[in-house]
Amino acid sequence: MRVLRKGMRGSDVAEVQSILKLIGYNISSVDGIFGENTEQAVKAFQRNNGLSADGIIGPRTYERLEPFLLGYALYKIKPGDTLYKIANQYSTNVYSITTANPGINPFFLNVGEEIIVPFGIDVVQTDIPYTYDVMEKDIQGLVMRYPFLVVDTIGKSVEGRNLYMIKLGEGPREVFYNGSHHSNEWITTPVLMKWIEQFSKAFAMDGIIRGYPARTIWEQATIYIVPMVNPDGVELVINGISPDHPRYNEIIQWNDGSTNFDRWKANIRGVDLNRNYDASWDEFKEMEESLGVDGPGPYLYGGPSPESEPESKAVADFTREHDFRLVLAYHTQGEVIFWNYRNLQPPEALKIGEMLAAVSGYTLAEPVGAALYAGYKDWFIKEYRRPGYTIEVGRGENPLPISQFEEIYENNEELLLLAALV
Ligand SMILES: [Zn+2]
Repeated sequence: MRVLRKGMRGSDVAEVQSILKLIGYNISSVDGIFGENTEQAVKAFQRNNGLSADGIIGPRTYERLEPFLLGYALYKIKPGDTLYKIANQYSTNVYSITTANPGINPFFLNVGEEIIVPFGIDVVQTDIPYTYDVMEKDIQGLVMRYPFLVVDTIGKSVEGRNLYMIKLGEGPREVFYNGSHHSNEWITTPVLMKWIEQFSKAFAMDGIIRGYPARTIWEQATIYIVPMVNPDGVELVINGISPDHPRYNEIIQWNDGSTNFDRWKANIRGVDLNRNYDASWDEFKEMEESLGVDGPGPYLYGGPSPESEPESKAVADFTREHDFRLVLAYHTQGEVIFWNYRNLQPPEALKIGEMLAAVSGYTLAEPVGAALYAGYKDWFIKEYRRPGYTIEVGRGENPLPISQFEEIYENNEELLLLAALV
């Protein structure tokens, strides 16, 4: 974490603004610009935490902020403590503490034992550019408060970032959801992350979410989620590229000399991961030239061979290692659901697609143009003859503004529940 001070801007500034606002400080706008208002809020936070109020976020201030970003604190039990007392002290409730610490006996607390105390705030931040770092913190925060979640990695990106996988449920129906194959469609990552949080919350309370008993889904399905398939690309779109990056020159060249990466969909090697699967890949190669693609670039370059990239290979390998009944790949070009591939989809694919369309308000559609080739769901349908869908959320130019998040999430919460059961 770099030191943040007045005059700076960036996704890390937005992250701090978002958390200060969430815990009650006066932040007028979560805009990633560290101005007077943000400085005042940082000073107030510092005063409340016994720090010198210089308005600069250095290591000590960050150390105090970080538990809020993770959504929990570690607490060592003292003589005379009760969970109720601890919960009050942290503005949270006893139930969230017992959920986070399943081994604990509320009536016999062990003095000196360290427990996890989740704060009474949500973990997943949905009002900021959702970087890989933000996702990592959210995953850690979610696992600490919901220890029934299983977190693993399915591989690493070109630059060595983890391709995280979160598993929910213990049922026989295996389904797989993934987001951010395309880097400028990163808004799909917080949609999946927020859904993990909402579902976990419901399951922890043995509750109901959108009319679905969470326990039923947990017992009938196992849901595997890779929220960010292309973390290097997401980083490029959100934070740009530093001149000391080893690929700086070629990436700028591929991007036609521009340092603005809003249109970048590919991974860091300029390969469009959703044109890199073995489904009509050769045919697509023959079309590339007519699409103006002559090699690595922001989008539509299918790579030197199918699964040439570690990210697409990891997703394909992970798929081969499982017995997925259905898959969903999240994208953001329009409010449509693509459901078929060369008529290889199973007979029930249309009916399930209609159900997903009905609960989301999206339109079922047949792909046209480049979208006909080499995508993940195409490969899945071709390989397994099972239902696979590309869910295109939101409207407008990528990257979609995070202000669309609430509406997009609203449209997809039930879809993600239903897809585990159909
Ligand atoms: Zn896409």
